[in-house]
Parts: sequence; structure tokens; C-alpha cells
Amino acid sequence: MAIRKVARMGHPILRQKARELTAEEIRSPETTQLITDMLETMREYGGIGLAAPQIHESLQIALIGMDAQGAEMEVPEVFFNPVITILDPEVQGYWEGCLSVPDLRGLVFRPKRIRVDYWDAHARPKSVEAEGFRATVFQHELDHLAGILYVDRMEDTTRFAFIEEYQRFWVPSPDSAVGELKE
Ligand code: ZN
Repeated sequence: MAIRKVARMGHPILRQKARELTAEEIRSPETTQLITDMLETMREYGGIGLAAPQIHESLQIALIGMDAQGAEMEVPEVFFNPVITILDPEVQGYWEGCLSVPDLRGLVFRPKRIRVDYWDAHARPKSVEAEGFRATVFQHELDHLAGILYVDRMEDTTRFAFIEEYQRFWVPSPDSAVGELKE
């Protein structure tokens, strides 16, 4: 078991497309060990999601630690070879953060309802739908597997801030006035 170092923006591994795992690889002890490392790293850094490339492993694995009610989960869920389908293209805005882009928050608009087809830890095909903040967390983490960072999705870099200034000046998400300055 080990807490891994998190790759930060500028490291080329974050820009690579991660490769899929075979069913045999998913069930291997090496992958079980990698998942343990990812869970420990996520806990140590205080993330609500983590993608394997963030710990320098260019593999299609994502952890999601946000449940359907928008609450942080005790034990995050693991998704192998996930593929997103947009169910509702209407967008919603959330201020996002990323362990690979530390101390910053940026406003990103993404589709509000999605489906994710993936393989579980036994390499069984599964499917899950998500909406609200959980849908944003999924899209953020699965972007990592394609070499995309949330900053690439920002439409307006005036809505990009250090955490301290975000908390001080900007309307937090979720809120209908997200992206506006506090009164
Ligand atoms: Zn991230």
C-alpha cells in the first residue's frame, strides 16, 4: 500500500489518452494493488475523484467519491474502461477543482445528465446514470482518461480563481447565480 505522488498540470502523462484494460488485467493482483494506492492517494489529497493518469498510470481507471445525493462517499466507486453517453445536453455550471491543478477553482459548464458504461472490479459490464454534481465529477474524471483537463473546458477565464479568492468573492456552486460575484 502506498500514497502516490499526484502529477500536476504540465506533466505530459496528463495529456495522453489512457489505454483500456483487458478483463484479465482488471482481475489481476497488480490492478487490485493499484486501486488500493489510488484510494489511499485520493484520501491523502482529499479528492472526490481520481483518475489513474493522475498517479502516473496511463490506464482507463477512475474513482468516483460522490454519490447521487451529492455527498462524499466513504468508499469511492471504481470504474474501468468507462464510456460516457450524454442523456441531456442542457448544461449546468459548477466551480471545479483538480488535484493536478492545485489551489485553483474554475467555472465549467457540462451536460447535466449522462450514462456511463463501464466494467466493474470483476470485469463485468455495467451501466450507471448520473445527474447534478455527480455527473460533473464523472465527466471531469473521465476527461482525464482522454488527456483533457477542466481548464480546457472553461469558456471564460475570468471565472478562474485561487480557492481563497473563489470563497471570498464568487457565488459558490450549486446556485442559479453561479459565475456571479457575491452581493
Ligand atoms: Zn482532475
